[in-house]
Amino acid sequence: MPDTDAVIIGSGINSLACGALLARAGWRVAVLERNDWLGGAIHTAEITEPGFHHDVFSAWHPLWVGGAAHAQLGDELAQRGLEYLNTELPTATAFPDGTAAFLLRTADGNARELGPEWPHVLEKFFPNADLAFGVLGTELWSTSGLAFGAKALRRLGRAGLANFTGELLQSSRDWLQETFASERAHGVLAPWVLHTGLGPDAAASGFMTQVIAVAVQEGGMPIPRGGGARLADALVRLIRDHGGSCETNVDVERIVVRSGRAVGVQTTAGDTIEAERAVIANVTPTQLYDRLLEDVDVPAQLREAARRFRYGRAEMQIHYALSEPARWNGDERLNETAVVHVTPGLDGVSRAVNEAERGLLPAEATIVVGQPLTIDPSRAPDGRGILWIQLQELPWHVKGDAAGELDGDWTGDLKERYADRIQQRLARHIPNLESAIRARTVLSPADLERMNVNLHRGDPYGGALALDQNFLWRPFAQSPGHGTPVERLWHIGASTWPGPGLGGGSGTLVAQKLLEPPPTQRALARLRALAAR
Ligand SMILES: Cc1cc2nc3c(=O)[nH]c(=O)nc-3n(C[C@H](O)[C@H](O)[C@H](O)COP(=O)(O)OP(=O)(O)OC[C@H]3O[C@@H](n4cnc5c(N)ncnc54)[C@H](O)[C@@H]3O)c2cc1C
Repeated sequence: MPDTDAVIIGSGINSLACGALLARAGWRVAVLERNDWLGGAIHTAEITEPGFHHDVFSAWHPLWVGGAAHAQLGDELAQRGLEYLNTELPTATAFPDGTAAFLLRTADGNARELGPEWPHVLEKFFPNADLAFGVLGTELWSTSGLAFGAKALRRLGRAGLANFTGELLQSSRDWLQETFASERAHGVLAPWVLHTGLGPDAAASGFMTQVIAVAVQEGGMPIPRGGGARLADALVRLIRDHGGSCETNVDVERIVVRSGRAVGVQTTAGDTIEAERAVIANVTPTQLYDRLLEDVDVPAQLREAARRFRYGRAEMQIHYALSEPARWNGDERLNETAVVHVTPGLDGVSRAVNEAERGLLPAEATIVVGQPLTIDPSRAPDGRGILWIQLQELPWHVKGDAAGELDGDWTGDLKERYADRIQQRLARHIPNLESAIRARTVLSPADLERMNVNLHRGDPYGGALALDQNFLWRPFAQSPGHGTPVERLWHIGASTWPGPGLGGGSGTLVAQKLLEPPPTQRALARLRALAAR
């Protein structure tokens, strides 16, 4: 393997976005991945039956399509075969009484679905949408973070900024109950906070609810034709076209540090790959400090803080190959909706989250039902069905069952018995489900961790997103942002700001930082600009 400017450990979306941005700027990049596929939590495979192409982990790409990396790379990725498909029916909630409520692509449609309060939400949100979305794309501990804060202060004034940041910390429950009279509106929006790693009673979940609601109305639910892996494929092609390399089955076991500087990595096969300008690690803090930097002299306090880094709730996936499409009871639009949440509503989500956090299997989990064929029929043979089921309210250590029925742990057959319970509930909404099942594949939290070491303890989001590990404090207060105590070593991935999801945010922020001109050049450019005025 050639020596490089940057070695990137792991091939998740943040690695590939970072690698692509660096490679097209002329850096020699090597991405090293321990699995036999590139993309990390992006992986499309025929895991049930031949001809059924399942997104094994992540499936929905609004964060990528709305993110900064896509804005810069989208055209080049399209030239390499990436095509996004979208829908007018992005999401809905199916309630136990057989009714449903939807979040649609138009403001008028959503006013009908959510209530007359919706236009006021938009009126308040849009003038500062750049701040709301901007905070998620800014390196908060940096001069650009300061500039962002100054811009917000200039625009909003002191009282306005205090109000804006205060509202940012509100819980989803408080925001929903204060904003919408309709419990059905609460029931459509509350489950979406699960996709940010939060629960509806957590700090900042109200802000995330608003951001997601507006983002889904404006951006829909894009997915790549052929499967999520087409995004990873196109990024890999882009890196390779610019002279970079992306290797599978290479497990990095150590970051090589000389005189306080990261200069390369060593693999379990005994190879050393030198990096002249940066080592970029897409790993959890647990792996970074306990394994990759095990022999390196880092402050004891920092190592201890990394040890205390907390992981969030665990999750499970169920994949179905069906002999025919799912036919939902009630509102026919459910048959065409990309992501349906099955839940009693806000209190249902809140209860299930609370049970999981107390170590219990929830009695009535929020079932996320993904229907990729509603957008991209190419993923299964004609006339067949695929369901992508996500259960985000699970404990890693199972202390008991809130329904008093199941016991065991994730190493045994608990996952199948829990999947049976979920299936029974689903069958009440989808009467043809059980007769249509050709194959079912269940991935427990333990399976997820085994398949991707970054999904530590089955947490899909790389670490709890409680306030003290979020925003200014991600991954943790002693080491916020992406720098590390080792010069030229950068930390990216879901565990770092701006957290999980397919936006590729941390990889993009680090690439931007590395591609900044040196300070003297920046100062000269500023002087020239002043002189030209
Ligand atoms: C089941 C599931 C469903 C999800 N659904 C969605 C969704 O629909 N939409 C969305 O936006 N987000 C979703 N997410 C979240 C999103 O997929 C992740 O936050 C995101 O993909 C994480 O990307 P990453 O760059 O942090 O790295 P990851 O995707 O976690 O990849 C890290 C890679 O690094 C490799 N690695 C780690 N250590 C080493 C080492 N020492 N040597 C070599 N390789 C190493 C791992 O093998 C892995 O492949 C989902 C997550 C999960 C788990």
